[in-house]
Amino acid sequence: MTDYTDHTACGICGGNTRSSGTQNLLADGSRICCNCLDRTIVLYPEEYSEDGSRIIQTYRMVTAAQMKASFVKAHQHREELMERYGYASGAFEVREVKRLKGGFFEPELLNVFGRALYGRFALFDTVKVMGRPVASRIDAISKNSFVRPFSGKNASVLKEEGIRDHVRTAVDEGKAGILIFKKNFDIRPGDILLKL
Ligand SMILES: [Zn+2]
Repeated sequence: MTDYTDHTACGICGGNTRSSGTQNLLADGSRICCNCLDRTIVLYPEEYSEDGSRIIQTYRMVTAAQMKASFVKAHQHREELMERYGYASGAFEVREVKRLKGGFFEPELLNVFGRALYGRFALFDTVKVMGRPVASRIDAISKNSFVRPFSGKNASVLKEEGIRDHVRTAVDEGKAGILIFKKNFDIRPGDILLKL
């Protein structure tokens, strides 16, 4: 039997949220577990604030009741996205592109900042630009603990520390992140990267 009085229980399925802090809090103060969030995140992907200074977790503006009601809708939305993007196993919306000059023995790095609309983009996955015949392997992935990585003071953070200190293995569905390519190819803001 599910104990909804447990404050660590998921407000939707009653499962353990195993969450520290307030990261998985919903608008009504209830918590959501990773399973329930995974099932609905496609409807509530990370957004950027108007000035690009913050990443907004849109699921946090939803109540547990609304979230519960959105399971079917999330499934449909995912199907629609897959149809729109030719049934690729993932689609990544490009927000900003920045080329970082290499140094001695360091290759030039093409940094592509955006979010995974659906699917999971992992290290060494091959992606292509939708509508153009260019494809490349993902050579590194950087986390977005710093936001707006290519402007203001955060640009120097990425430049000085390089990618080594921000390495991640994947950008999960609905999340923002930076895909890094050693091979230069033609990607522009607004493009969609499809996972092959
Ligand atoms: Zn749950």
